[in-house]
Amino acid sequence: MNSAKSVLVTGGAGYIGSHACVELLQAGYRVVVVDNLENSKFEALKRVQEITDKPLTFYQVDIRDHASLADVFAKEAITSVMHFAGLKAVGESCELPLKYYHNNVYGTIVLLQVMAEANVKQLVFSSSATVYGTNPQVQYTEDLPIGAVNPYGRTKAMIEDMLRDLSAADAIKPSQSPWKIALLRYFNPIGAHESGRIGEDPNGIPNNLMPYVTQVAIGKLAQLSVFGDDYPTPDGTGVRDYIHVVDLVKGHIKAIQALQTEKFAAGGCKAYNLGAGKGCSVLEIIGTFEKITGRKVNYSFAPRRAGDLPEYYANPALALQELGWQVEKTLEDMVADTWLWQVNNPQGYN
Ligand code: NAD
Ligand code: UDP
Repeated sequence: MNSAKSVLVTGGAGYIGSHACVELLQAGYRVVVVDNLENSKFEALKRVQEITDKPLTFYQVDIRDHASLADVFAKEAITSVMHFAGLKAVGESCELPLKYYHNNVYGTIVLLQVMAEANVKQLVFSSSATVYGTNPQVQYTEDLPIGAVNPYGRTKAMIEDMLRDLSAADAIKPSQSPWKIALLRYFNPIGAHESGRIGEDPNGIPNNLMPYVTQVAIGKLAQLSVFGDDYPTPDGTGVRDYIHVVDLVKGHIKAIQALQTEKFAAGGCKAYNLGAGKGCSVLEIIGTFEKITGRKVNYSFAPRRAGDLPEYYANPALALQELGWQVEKTLEDMVADTWLWQVNNPQGYN
């Protein structure tokens, strides 16, 4: 067992976590997954092991369960943590805010307590571009103020604050093993593993653009509503920075490596944007989808969706400079891989 390289992946059975497990295993890490399977299936982890031809260790544990989580740390020689576990539906977070604060914020507090007790203090956290809230600037740099606009976003902003406080406490009371934390602010992850074996498997009707487009193209849903055609953008539809999920998880490997370098020798908590650095409109997504798949995407224009911003995208320069990371895949890759996953798995993991 190579205990120097054992990574605990919380939420590892989920969409992004399962792709992270593939990259970690392929990079030679030992992987331990903790997931309560609230929004995922064990089948995803079976496939991760098939793709990589390597085993991983799985615990069906809720991160809020202190005793069970501590037991995992006692049994496994964990050296760092990638923390994906959380709830992520913006609409549901507005209806059930306490569910989100309890799961995401309290769950992270328990995780951090258990990590501190086990003296495991390297963490890569799944944050989101949603923490930038509303900003006059459309290209986001990490130094912009934080100001989330919905309960889900506020859970991410609160967790970021908590992690910065934890790191700042090390400066007040120096520790031999200070916290080393990377806050990765994702833009819009889409796509799937190129094998077509793992991908995004949303429950019920998708909220996000890409899974919705895919289900329209395959005939599961009748028509896409394009939310807004009167935004101040080149074609009037919303602009986002889409990033291939495999590029995204490669950013996590770079981050976990960076935490072990001289730069983080004295500890620290640092945010990095993970995005392509360019915007793409809803109509461009539809056009690329039709070109790559040869399928028609039926759509009609609908009113703007409440809470949506017209346009934003990442400035990913810091991740390139400090992590040596940048996206490699194109929008065409994202669409082709999403489509392969959808065609091969019309019912997702069911
Ligand atoms: P996902 O729902 O597919 O994965 C999350 C996983 O966490 C699921 O497997 C779920 O069962 C598990 N989980 C949830 N609560 C848990 C708990 N209390 N204990 C143990 N396991 C728990 O979501 P995803 O798209 O893979 O997102 C992963 C992370 O990235 C989330 O924190 C999400 O907020 C963040 N993120 C996602 C996006 C996106 O567009 N997908 C964008 C920005 C940030
Ligand atoms: N969108 C849309 N129809 C849908 C879902 C999304 O037109 O059914 C638009 C949405 O208004 C935004 C973009 O697609 O401009 C990306 O939305 P998504 O929900 O995927 O991600 P968000 O950026 O909101 O987190």
